[in-house]
Amino acid sequence: MSITIENMTKSFGSTAVLRGIDLTVESGELVALLGPSGSGKTTLLKIVAGLEWPNSGGLNVNGQDWLGLAAQDRRIGFVFQHYALFPHMTVRDNIAFGLTVRPRAERPGKSVIAAKVEELLHFLQIAHLGDRYPAQLSGGQRQRVALGRALAIQPTVLLLDEPFGALDAAVRRDLRAWLRRVHEETGSTTIFVTHDQEEAFELADRVVVMGEGRIEQIGNADQIHDHPASPFVARFMGATI
Ligand code: ADP
Repeated sequence: MSITIENMTKSFGSTAVLRGIDLTVESGELVALLGPSGSGKTTLLKIVAGLEWPNSGGLNVNGQDWLGLAAQDRRIGFVFQHYALFPHMTVRDNIAFGLTVRPRAERPGKSVIAAKVEELLHFLQIAHLGDRYPAQLSGGQRQRVALGRALAIQPTVLLLDEPFGALDAAVRRDLRAWLRRVHEETGSTTIFVTHDQEEAFELADRVVVMGEGRIEQIGNADQIHDHPASPFVARFMGATI
């Protein structure tokens, strides 16, 4: 599923948060949005998810206009920094959740859901955790479950907003390598938001550097490190290395 964002703007009151964003994410690509806090990364992700609406501009997925489509019809997998797992449900039930709330006509039968959940538990290397509750998991394990829940609905697009932001450095590194493998196997079109350069460059096919609501540069690690497109990018790269 390719995503095309055209000349998108968004303001909150008199504050311009997105100032004309043009971006195409190819089908199966993993793109990182990298930039300092307040640069508009989360807002852009929320617009793709259908949780915010832009003031102007276009959003097309495989040629379909997504701005006219309600959030639940977009089939988005979304993982946030602060794991929004349901505390009263086991890992299995958390992963199954997105499938059990589909409209009746689209809802798979119980045994199909159970089989799908088992498959995901193995695929995500959390098969031993199926009966636990979120409070009995480490932060890294919770994010694996959150990704399982997002993947269960076979999302058209996977959106990850600082998913490892609350975890310590060693766990982040492990999860990064693991996510890269998961991405290669699922081939989901993915947008990953981070303010961490190392994370962005290690994970993404292309990195989109954002600053103050604009795209400053799009490229791989070498292009952005060796040829920063603006003083902003040069400063940002230097400041956070
Ligand atoms: P980032 O993800 O890069 O940190 P955000 O998209 O979260 O940036 O925020 C960009 C700017 O928009 C910030 O200045 C933030 O305070 C503002 N903002 C985000 N959401 C809202 C909102 N619902 N109401 C008002 N201002 C908001």
